[in-house]
Amino acid sequence: MVKRRGLYPGTFDPLTLGHVDIIERAVKLVDELVIGVAINRDKGPLFSLDERVAMVEREMARISKASGVAIKVTPFENLLMKFAEDVGAGIIVRGLRAVSDFEYEFQMVGMNQSLNDEIETVFLMADVRYQSIASRLVKEIARLDGDIASFVPAHVAEALKKKFS
Ligand code: ADP
Repeated sequence: MVKRRGLYPGTFDPLTLGHVDIIERAVKLVDELVIGVAINRDKGPLFSLDERVAMVEREMARISKASGVAIKVTPFENLLMKFAEDVGAGIIVRGLRAVSDFEYEFQMVGMNQSLNDEIETVFLMADVRYQSIASRLVKEIARLDGDIASFVPAHVAEALKKKFS
């Protein structure tokens, strides 16, 4: 049987419990999962690429062990569809939050289908507790010394504290 390989791309600046929840759902659909950490210089990330990759990797051993799905964390800079082809992914996983995500994702899927119609994008919704979490807001709250414990894994909360101290 052909193995289903999924790709979950994102900036993960930083990894939140919303991302973790999506990953825990994605592993139910695929045999192997590649998590693509976008270099995303345009977005001016707070955390370096190495820091973001390390944050994601720290959570993966547990999820991989629990699900039996191999998870690989890989940085990428090129076009998403090209990266998906390079890693041999047949499925791209994206998370959907509110209507605000929809417009952007709708356009992306349309364009990506023109680039490669063999690769399907699937959208997953996080548990209701995590649906409103956004990396951008987590950084804003952390910068203003607010409590972010319920939005990110403990090691990410520590890293944010250090960044803003
Ligand atoms: P990007 O720059 O690609 O938007 P992000 O790291 O912000 O990177 O998000 C990666 C993916 O995870 C996107 O599909 C985004 O919609 C999804 N995502 C982020 N936070 C949540 C959340 N709280 N619930 C569901 N999906 C989420």
